[in-house]
This record gives sequence, structure tokens and C-alpha cells, in this order.
Amino acid sequence: MTLDHRLVLSTYAQTARTAHDTLTALDQLSGDGDFGDNLREGLDRVETALGERPSDAAFAVAASVFLDEVGGTSGPLIGLLFQEIARALAHSEDAREGWRTGVAEGLAAIQRVGEAEPGDRTMVDALAPARDALTAGEDFAGTARAALSGAQATAGIRARRGRAAYVGDRALGAPDPGAVGVALLFWSLARVAE
Ligand code: ADP
Ligand code: MG
Ligand code: MG
Repeated sequence: MTLDHRLVLSTYAQTARTAHDTLTALDQLSGDGDFGDNLREGLDRVETALGERPSDAAFAVAASVFLDEVGGTSGPLIGLLFQEIARALAHSEDAREGWRTGVAEGLAAIQRVGEAEPGDRTMVDALAPARDALTAGEDFAGTARAALSGAQATAGIRARRGRAAYVGDRALGAPDPGAVGVALLFWSLARVAE
């Protein structure tokens, strides 16, 4: 199958605008409260850059924006994910094949840099179930469900990585903002693919 990946990114940007206040509240509980801003502003910049670079691959544009311009711990990590998705999509005819490889490589890159394991209460807890779903041959809707339920499950985890590790049990009961934010990528992908 082929997919309009510019539309995936603009859907993700729209979703991040809608989710901004919730993501901010989640990062206020477990971190410093800037995750909603980081994701929304990063994706707004991606939309602007896509308009300026009409012939470049969508995820390559998104990767350069997140790697070079987006702050927080999440900015460069999401940049690595976008970079591997861009690389894999460039090498595959089929979008599902590209996403299967890109998410696996992106997760590996994030874990090499951030050293988080599943269960540490980070975006890895949304990405690992998404990777597993894609590897098992799930469609994008099933992959989005896996990512969202992985993100939801972080509500029961005490953080061992990132700023949330310093706040103890304060964030228990609320999911990790980065996991929710990354799950919304897969939700956006499923929306466009349906
Ligand atoms: P900061 O904590 O620097 O303000 P953000 O608010 O932009 O960063 O992003 C916070 C999110 O980053 C967390 O919710 C978590 O999902 C993710 N994160 C933090 N540390 C790591 C890590 N070592 N590996 C993977 N993801 C991480
Ligand atoms: Mg933060
Ligand atoms: Mg910060």
C-alpha cells in the first residue's frame, strides 16, 4: 500500500494541538510541564518546513526539524524515530513494510541513546508494543491500539528514567506524557490509512 505521509504528519500536528493541554498536564505531574509545548511546536514547525520543502520526503523533513530544533529530552528522541522511519520508507515500496522496519530501527536508536527498557515509564512503552504489533503483521489500526494501550499501562508504573524518576509516586495513576504523545503518531497513521 502507499500512503500520503505529509497527511500523516499534518494529522499528527492537528492531534498534538488538540492533545496539548492534556499532555501539558501529564508532564506537570511527572516532569517539568513542557512536553505538550515541545510536541505541538515541533509539529507546527514540521508543517511549516513541509510547505517550504515540497519535494523532500515528509519524514526526512520531520526528522531534521526534531533533531535540530526541538528541545526537551523528547525532541531528539522523536527525531531519531522520524529519521529511521524516513530511511525505511525510502527503501520500501510498501508503506506497511516501511513502517515495520522504521519503527523497529527507530526504537533501537532511541534505546541506544536513552537506555530505557520497556517498563521504565517512557515513550519506549508505546513504541515496543507498536513494533511488536507491526512485526506480527497487524494493520495500522491494530498497531495504534497496541501503542495506545502500552501508553495507558504506564499509568501503573513508577518511573526509572527521565525527570519522572525524581518525583516518586506523584505521577502514579496518570500515563507518561511521552508515551501518550508517541502513541498519537500511530493513531494519526491509522486515521490516514483507513
Ligand atoms: P524533559 O523531561 O527534558 O522536559 P520532554 O518533556 O520533552 O523532556 O519529554 C519527556 C518524555 O521523554 C517523557 O515523558 C518520556 O516519555 C521521554 N523520555 C525521558 N527520558 C527518556 C529515555 N531515557 N528514553 C526514552 N524516552 C525518554
Ligand atoms: Mg518535560
Ligand atoms: Mg523540559
